[in-house]
Amino acid sequence: MLKYLGLGQMDDVASYPREGGCQCGAVRYEIQTPPRKVYVCHCRECQRQSASAFGISVRVPSKDFRLKSGEPRRWTRATDSGGTLTCNFCPVCGSRVWHGDLQVDDTISVKGGSLDMPVNLSDASHIWTSRALRGVIIPERTPKFLEEPDAASRIRGCSCMGFSLSRHLHCLFQFFLLSFFA
Ligand SMILES: [Zn+2]
Ligand SMILES: [Zn+2]
Repeated sequence: MLKYLGLGQMDDVASYPREGGCQCGAVRYEIQTPPRKVYVCHCRECQRQSASAFGISVRVPSKDFRLKSGEPRRWTRATDSGGTLTCNFCPVCGSRVWHGDLQVDDTISVKGGSLDMPVNLSDASHIWTSRALRGVIIPERTPKFLEEPDAASRIRGCSCMGFSLSRHLHCLFQFFLLSFFA
């Protein structure tokens, strides 16, 4: 059931709360409940931020995230959608730890590699696959989106494989709607 809700990462529900932190250990946190969603993002911002192939965002409610030690510094950047993104990082080692403002945002993105127990990416959604580095292999049956997971990109990279029938029908419905009006 959980898998069909897009929460396949919750296969180890019993192992929460979980801890994590930056590379040097100055910043430490705890996540009290399993993530709502895990994204692997192949966009250029995530490649630059991670200085690697992609970013991993573990989406958790702000109320379930607790900073245990350290005083992260913040940097804010503009987003494509016209908003701003608050980026929190360790002032000692520079590791990015989470994105989002705990005081303002309902949900934040914890950077996946910072969790002590490695993140399960089996059911993660891959987004901005149009920017994926050549040679990066994205699993066949995983939900994937060419850009942000909105209606338009869902059609170009139908993501309903592996989800429930209702999700699949919803996807087909959007396809016909947009085909008709486009
Ligand atoms: Zn650090
Ligand atoms: Zn990204």
